[in-house]
Amino acid sequence: MLKMNPQLSMPAERLLELDDVKVHFPTREGLVKAVNGVSYHVDRGEVLGIVGESGSGKSITARAIMRLLPRNAREEGGSIRFRPRTGELHDLSALGRDSRAVRQIRGQHIGMIFQEPMTALSPVHSIGDQIIRTIQLHMKLDRHAARKRASELLSKVGMPRPEQMLDNYPHQLSGGMRQRAMIALAISCDPSLLIADEPTTALDVTTEAQILELLKHLQAELGMAIVFITHNFGVVADIADRVAVMYLGRIVETASVDDIFYAPKHPYTRALLNSIPRLGVDQGRRLPTIPGMVPDPYSVPNGCSFHPRCGYSVAGTCDVTAPEQHRFPNGQAARCHFAEQLAEADAHV
Ligand code: SF4
Repeated sequence: MLKMNPQLSMPAERLLELDDVKVHFPTREGLVKAVNGVSYHVDRGEVLGIVGESGSGKSITARAIMRLLPRNAREEGGSIRFRPRTGELHDLSALGRDSRAVRQIRGQHIGMIFQEPMTALSPVHSIGDQIIRTIQLHMKLDRHAARKRASELLSKVGMPRPEQMLDNYPHQLSGGMRQRAMIALAISCDPSLLIADEPTTALDVTTEAQILELLKHLQAELGMAIVFITHNFGVVADIADRVAVMYLGRIVETASVDDIFYAPKHPYTRALLNSIPRLGVDQGRRLPTIPGMVPDPYSVPNGCSFHPRCGYSVAGTCDVTAPEQHRFPNGQAARCHFAEQLAEADAHV
């Protein structure tokens, strides 16, 4: 049984709360502030989409939650509070990556799926052995009962002939089937939270749609929350309730999925959305792209890190002072000096 920390508190509906999480990497070129003060929360049963370009820090943040950071990572503060269904509240940031408490949380209370299933699946054990072992470790079932549950899980994730599939090895499965096996493993102990790190990026469009449908179905059936990490706004529209947009190690905007798409407040979110083709509207039209490149992670610009690429940047302000988060009455929040003025200008268009 995990021990409770009486010093911690968090609203009852909250499952996960990150507060000012910082993860840095010393490199020969300089210090990479991969995650630079990230705060977000996930409520029970909610799907939070985290969107950002490669290098924005979204996966490293997920690894900090799972306590799976690379050995050379330096956590420079912040807290990661997590309360699973069983009610105990933990600060995950205080737990070592190989501690007993973390091993119990990982697998039992938080499941994770990746872009490449072989990151989670062992090539030398059958699918069944891997799922059965996890179930036995956390659920105290005998081998017979655990095998029965494993077979039911494979059936739940849409595997044909689940009994037979238990004895297959990952290399014997197609990409989509491997993804389903990884999902079965991740949900094998009925977790409160599933972290999905670009799980559909390597799949063809049809398989991607099937896996998204499966995740939505499982989320509704099991009542688990999902943190869905992606660079693809289209995927977020399909699955998320709320969205957090990341740029260079920070969250620049959070909003409900409708507000993100219909009333984005941060210039970076607007630019990302403007670069997505709309069916039937943008055919044959040249789409705007975000000017410039994402800067090197060890030479992040001063002030607002988006200022060299931002069409609204004001010299003397944006290149000097890092913006605070501006919170709107509907709960939407944007880290921009001019978020309010831009929203007012939109209202008059
Ligand atoms: Fe653009 Fe300035 Fe807002 Fe940054 S703070 S997003 S540079 S307007």
